[in-house]
Amino acid sequence: MTAAPGMATATVAGPAEQACCRFQQTLRRPVVVSGRGYWSGEANRVELRPASLGSGIVFVRDDLGGLRVPATLSWRVEASSRTNLQAGPATVEMVEHLLSSLAGLGIDCCEVGLTAAELPGLDGSAAAFVDAIEQAGIATLDQRIEPLIVTAPITIAEPGSVARIEAVPPTTSGLTVSYDLDYPGRPIPPQRFETAITPQRYRSELAAARTFLPEEDARRLQAAGRGLTVSTGDLLVFGPDGPIGNTLRWPEECARHKVLDVVGDLALAGRPIWADVRASRSGHRLNAALVAAVLAADRNKPSLPATGGTAKPEGGGDG
Ligand SMILES: [Zn+2]
Repeated sequence: MTAAPGMATATVAGPAEQACCRFQQTLRRPVVVSGRGYWSGEANRVELRPASLGSGIVFVRDDLGGLRVPATLSWRVEASSRTNLQAGPATVEMVEHLLSSLAGLGIDCCEVGLTAAELPGLDGSAAAFVDAIEQAGIATLDQRIEPLIVTAPITIAEPGSVARIEAVPPTTSGLTVSYDLDYPGRPIPPQRFETAITPQRYRSELAAARTFLPEEDARRLQAAGRGLTVSTGDLLVFGPDGPIGNTLRWPEECARHKVLDVVGDLALAGRPIWADVRASRSGHRLNAALVAAVLAADRNKPSLPATGGTAKPEGGGDG
């Protein structure tokens, strides 16, 4: 399945509009989060380390001699129900919750050391990553961020499905995300959540929202030998009467988690996206297609006249 961009013409603001932006940020000191991957059951020691200006978010497979995998769209590989990256022989799996935490708290540059491919599932939310980032503290670097500011609507829709995600020009200086969740015939009730992605709101409204799946999907995964060490206490598994062996943290916890996932997937742009993003039934594949469209709009924006030169149309690049 591939996503088809709907309205493909979008433009992104240039440097002139960016004087307002905050400075890039990294961590003050390294901090460790350990846990097991949901699917592999493998232990992973995740060390979040300070990184230099302009370096972005980069995964480092410490167990493979330091092979590096940048957290950008170029390195994304297709996977079901999660966001995975691969550079050469080095893979990194289920990156979305960690990337969401870093983006949500405004961390632009960070090296993420790993001792296994799959990120820890933890309690299914981003809370432990957020706690770790806060424990490390945030340091300011001396160059400003360059956000990708959406200035015309971009719509991505799944052919033959109701799933869609769109980005329109931002109503705030930053990112706002809304998510409509409706799975007819499934035990998860229809719900909606919307919030502006600021560090404060990310912490209080999104970080603790856990991942979820219907009981039949959980059974199917376990029959395929995945998630054998995971129990219903580790994430939300929905049976006909609601979450099994667990209670919801918010009535619309699932929609909040979907917003958390969108924030993590949008982080693959490598720069903050400023837009109002509206998603319904959108998953990782559509979210990534939106990132590709925003990056394409940025590449195709009219260039400022260069000294003694002509405007250069630009193609190529990633995505
Ligand atoms: Zn998720």
